[in-house]
Amino acid sequence: MAKKMVYFFGKGKGEGNARMKELLGGKGANLAEMAKLGVPVPPGFTITTEVCTHYYENRRTYPKGLRDEVKKAMGKVEEIMGKSFGDPNDPLLMSVRSGARRSMPGMMETVLNIGLTEKTIPGLIKKSGNERFVYDAYRRLIMMYSDVVMEKAAGIEPKDDEGIRKQLEKIMDQLKKQKGCKLDTDLSAEDLKNLCAQFKAKVKTQLGKEFPDDPNEQLWGGIHAVFASWNGKRAVSYRRIEGIPDEWGTAVNVQAMVFGNMGSDSATGVAFTRNPATGDNHFYGEWLINAQGEDVVAGIRTPSPINEATKSEQNKNLASLETAMPRLYEQLDAIQKKLEKHYRDMQDIEFTIERGILFMLQCRVGKRNGPAAVRMALDMHKEKLIKTEEAVMRVTPSQLDELLHPIIDPKVEKQYKPLAKGLPAGPGGAAGQIVFSAPDAVEWTKQGKKVILVREETNPEDVEGMRAAQAILTARGGMTSHAALVARGWGKCCIVGCSAMHVHLAKKEVTIDGKLLKEGDWITLNGTKGNVYEGQLTMMDASEENQILSDFLKICDKVRKLGVRTNADTPDDAQRARQFGAAGIGLFRTEHMFYGKGSDEALFLLRKMIVSKTEEERKNALAELFPYVKKDIKGTLDAMDNLPVVIRLLDPPLHEFVPRDRAKLELLAQDLNISLDELAHRADALHESNPMMGHRGVRLGITYPEVTEMQVRAIYEAAAELIKEGKKPYPEIMIPVVCDVKELLDQFEIVKRVYKEVLAKYKLKKIRNKVGTMIEIPRASLVADKIAQVAEFFSFGTNDMTQMGFGFSRDDIGGFLPDYLKKGILPKDPFQSIDQEGVGALIRIGIQQGRKTRQDLEDGIGGEHGGEPDSIEFCHRVGMNYVSCSPFRVPIARLAAAQAAVK
Ligand code: ADP
Ligand code: MG
Ligand code: MG
Repeated sequence: MAKKMVYFFGKGKGEGNARMKELLGGKGANLAEMAKLGVPVPPGFTITTEVCTHYYENRRTYPKGLRDEVKKAMGKVEEIMGKSFGDPNDPLLMSVRSGARRSMPGMMETVLNIGLTEKTIPGLIKKSGNERFVYDAYRRLIMMYSDVVMEKAAGIEPKDDEGIRKQLEKIMDQLKKQKGCKLDTDLSAEDLKNLCAQFKAKVKTQLGKEFPDDPNEQLWGGIHAVFASWNGKRAVSYRRIEGIPDEWGTAVNVQAMVFGNMGSDSATGVAFTRNPATGDNHFYGEWLINAQGEDVVAGIRTPSPINEATKSEQNKNLASLETAMPRLYEQLDAIQKKLEKHYRDMQDIEFTIERGILFMLQCRVGKRNGPAAVRMALDMHKEKLIKTEEAVMRVTPSQLDELLHPIIDPKVEKQYKPLAKGLPAGPGGAAGQIVFSAPDAVEWTKQGKKVILVREETNPEDVEGMRAAQAILTARGGMTSHAALVARGWGKCCIVGCSAMHVHLAKKEVTIDGKLLKEGDWITLNGTKGNVYEGQLTMMDASEENQILSDFLKICDKVRKLGVRTNADTPDDAQRARQFGAAGIGLFRTEHMFYGKGSDEALFLLRKMIVSKTEEERKNALAELFPYVKKDIKGTLDAMDNLPVVIRLLDPPLHEFVPRDRAKLELLAQDLNISLDELAHRADALHESNPMMGHRGVRLGITYPEVTEMQVRAIYEAAAELIKEGKKPYPEIMIPVVCDVKELLDQFEIVKRVYKEVLAKYKLKKIRNKVGTMIEIPRASLVADKIAQVAEFFSFGTNDMTQMGFGFSRDDIGGFLPDYLKKGILPKDPFQSIDQEGVGALIRIGIQQGRKTRQDLEDGIGGEHGGEPDSIEFCHRVGMNYVSCSPFRVPIARLAAAQAAVK
């Protein structure tokens, strides 16, 4: 391996840069970039992800020459710091930090204070004049190192609560109790010194090995542990959830230590250039005085707010960095502004202050939830930080989905008083039954229950349970805690730092503000406000006017070329979809009026029509049915006034409507004046062995022209009446299941005749309308040039097209499709995401052939695929005019269509 394996950064220089994430991992690439920008970064170096790959491909060994490169880079660090690693008089200490391409919060390992040994400790005490600090650093090193290197990386898997870290924490808690200290910072130098000795003894007895007293052994142990942590259990399960490939590997960053634990002029913190939970444009973060490393994130002490503007209910009495260290705050504020401007996106930053000097330890594009993503995209666009196209790309379809998620019904919520308040870490509402452990959350969810995971605090081992739960509630931790970070990434409802809550894990009980709740009890969270309620409050869809959402979607609309319509069968759905921005209906199914509430009379008449034997009987039944159909269509045309409504003529095989229960059959027989036997006989005659490919769609109209005639008349008369009322209806009549132009010619004769008759009846010159067809049979695509001689529009019925294209019965895929997916024979369920290769080719041909004949042919899609982002991108690429999807998917389709146009 002749490639460069180690990249140096520090003192205004960086061998890498922000674009080298694949090689250097996100952390390493950004440390180099920050160094280059002149931001104060402690010097260090990054060992590449290629070394990680080598490590795993060669039975966990390193490439030749690595040690030399590390030594050289270490030399540069020593030069800049003016100290040497392992020097007994003035030792340089290092951190070893993991860093994958994409951040995996808390999943992998970090070891701080490497280089402290019996020999170097006295030197550091002398140099720093601060014995307490040195033993504080040492106890942290022993704890991290024994946990990460000696236990986890060695593959030891102790039971819960029995790991070395837990054991050492117990020793420390005991000491604190004994000394009557509340906080870690209350322990004296002497206490900490004793603690270190106890730690080392415990490590020896529990792990059977001495804690290493050699700086280089510690360094390489740390490097090894980071590489090994890539295949640690929690990292692997996090990768599965997030879809991060195993081959990526991690880089290792080795960096000179700076110390936030040197006294009250030292500190450490985590911050965001904007609020990651709301998108609010205020520098936002948390810090702790006299602390090191993960103290802020781990929720050991309640962190203080970074500035006055962003104080919360929980931390309003704590001193902000802005007031405690104004000069440093100003410097930090300038750096955060510089970083956001440079990266042109919200940054998540880590910093440490050592005796009044500020250092930056990390920056990366910050995770955010849906509402924050939308708000930031909109604001940054207004601030001209990003262009329209970038703004559109800043929000993922699933983040947008979060804004459409359930909330507690505000009317209901008003009637309840919260049991307690915490920090609003993840928005939306959720109701669920309390569980206290991640495995329980997974198990209960499997049983179909809705649960809320209630914990003192979460840690990386909990991710699967956090994923399974409806929401997460923790007693400790701030907005930058593990729970908050992970929930935010997933857009999950989450409340952290609910300090009025006390979890009694062993008893599976929790008291919230004095109220005792048990496992299985219901609670409801409002993650947007941070309110915790007892019981199960009613939820509702977030349909309230959301100005930010609609402004953002307007930006999307400027970019997109695809129209977005909705699939709607009722005036209510049409109305809702219109509010979400649908520009018409792409699929109105006439048969809808025969299902569900209030459909009894219409269905009865339809059944009469179906079992009619003579044309006479059928015509009578149709005449009775006519006013119902007309009324139904009129309502929706009205709701979509001035916008196109594609109305599909009766599509399903008729036998679907034949009643099964005896009482209904008797009623029908009576009305038709025939015997039950005769009725059964007629119903039997409708039976088909393959109904989905049987007597349905246009075929019904071919054999029973009067069925087409009635529907077409209902549509035109509904439109005519609306015109008379001053409205502007725009029906598009669609004939389904067509495979040849002659079928259409046959039906169009009826359509044209009825059109003229209706014009005459209502004394109108014209009703704005189109007549077209659904392309869903593969043959139709192939002869689309001929079909377009008659059809004025095509709507691709991709559900049936997928069924017939694959020869997969839609209703029977359950038996085999899971195996196809498991074995990777198909990458995705083709009924959910269009098979672009095969079914997509049929669509492409259909559009091309159709437009050869009719240049202005309108093409759209009306299957379930119309709301799925990948399929929408496909529709954009093949030049469709619009997609159509369910009302709630309309905003997502608008976004996906805009993103397709940018890509
Ligand atoms: P993670 O990937 O989990 O964020 P990091 O590598 O960022 O882990 O390390 C965790 C914390 O350790 C950092 O936030 C920082 O506070 C501390 N840390 C890491 N390296 C150093 C260093 N060189 N000097 C001081 N603190 C450090
Ligand atoms: Mg870490
Ligand atoms: Mg970090």
